[in-house]
Amino acid sequence: MFDRREFPSGLQLVPHKAAALERAIFEAPAPTLATVALEQGNGREARPTVSAGDRVRVGTLIGRAMDEGTVAVHASIAGIVRAIEVRETASRAGQGLCIVIENDGSDQNEPGLEMVEWDSLSPEMLVDRIRAAGIAGLGGAAFPTAAKLAAASRRPATHLVLNGAECEPWICCDDALMRERAADVVLGGQVMLRASGAARCTIAVEDDKPEAIAALESALAAAADPRLELRLLGATYPAGAERQLLAVVTGTEIPHDAYPTDVGLLCQNVGTAAAVASLVRTGMPATRRVVTVTGSGVGRPGNVEARYGTPIADLVAACGGYRSDPRRLIAGGSMTGRALPCDAVPVTQAVNCIIAATAEDLSPPRREMPCIRCGDCAGVCPAGLLPQSLLRAAGADDAELLETFGLADCIECGCCDYVCPSQIPLTARFRSARAARALRLDEQRRAAEARERYARHERRLAEAAAAEREAFEAARRRARGGPE
Ligand code: SF4
Ligand code: SF4
Repeated sequence: MFDRREFPSGLQLVPHKAAALERAIFEAPAPTLATVALEQGNGREARPTVSAGDRVRVGTLIGRAMDEGTVAVHASIAGIVRAIEVRETASRAGQGLCIVIENDGSDQNEPGLEMVEWDSLSPEMLVDRIRAAGIAGLGGAAFPTAAKLAAASRRPATHLVLNGAECEPWICCDDALMRERAADVVLGGQVMLRASGAARCTIAVEDDKPEAIAALESALAAAADPRLELRLLGATYPAGAERQLLAVVTGTEIPHDAYPTDVGLLCQNVGTAAAVASLVRTGMPATRRVVTVTGSGVGRPGNVEARYGTPIADLVAACGGYRSDPRRLIAGGSMTGRALPCDAVPVTQAVNCIIAATAEDLSPPRREMPCIRCGDCAGVCPAGLLPQSLLRAAGADDAELLETFGLADCIECGCCDYVCPSQIPLTARFRSARAARALRLDEQRRAAEARERYARHERRLAEAAAAEREAFEAARRRARGGPE
């Protein structure tokens, strides 16, 4: 019998996962042209290490991470680099620098890739291997996994939580992965325990995934590692939100101005754990992921293993093509996803789901009405905010009030929109306000840096003038024949 936890707020949404889960994960054909984005989804671009005309193999480094917040990028197919240019991507910016590789059909791997003896490596060496492999969080945020592990080991972390709470109504790539590759999830958890120094690992799964739970139970029994456990959660949206999940699983609230690692916690997606397991088993860096391809506009929904850089159009084709003319292509879930400009955009580590949505999948156009102060939005907010108060502050463009009402804690989950009887697009307003806040903070940071630079410059001038004065006085004393 497992300990089962409930979320205090959120929504019960109708799931649309059954069709995609009808068959096992299958591999999409390697693309003829892979357009590998140097920004894998977290807003930070790697620097190209290849030029047009270079030959690459599967696993060749093609983009170097220049800092902790960026992931290294590797070729997902073997062939010739045809171009390095800006293309449309699924990123927030809508486009980014990509490396276009023409497939030579050889599917040759980079030489020297071999399994990692992870249990004989130090935690630092293990984090370095994960960093070099370019593994990012596969839950949608694509934050570099090594950066989180390194931060956790510095604190140090005590508790690792593997997030298998896939709460968006259409996304089921993690469910499929836990059903079919539960042993990899468990192995990834063990590797990340070593890398982070955490003492225990909880795999958190919603209780509406019985096949995944059974597979994880067997994998945990086979591993016989007392540090790992399974915990069931009520199926509530957004159970998978990191802070909310950690609070429910561990009982520790994370202060709004702190990171999970500040309170000894670390959260990784179950897909990320499987990617780490794949690295230690094969030595192959991050070159592919499982993507849910679904929606009423797709012939045969499914979970497809796709190489990074594969056009979305190829994934739809692998799932039976378009069934009818979809109104919208969405990357991510129906609650938090983003509309794509076209189906030529490539798969990145952040793309966990593609919904080809027809009119029947989309809510009818909203007719916004004034707020009636019913309080329904506050009742469902998983971050414990007062969305109606935030809305007033956003309307007045009052930065101070937005801060007071906790704009920074909004996770843009869309729960408040969903229940609002006045059909107010609250999340869109908060997203704009957060973007304006980020811009303001960035300007403040730059202004503070400029002030600091100016102060340093002034200090240097004053020190140089003092040294010059001192030298002059010493020379004068020498000229008078006195002591120096
Ligand atoms: S749910 Fe809508 S109408 Fe009700 S208080 Fe919130 S914003 Fe206002
Ligand atoms: S979008 Fe923000 S304010 Fe609205 S329910 Fe989610 S966390 Fe709360």
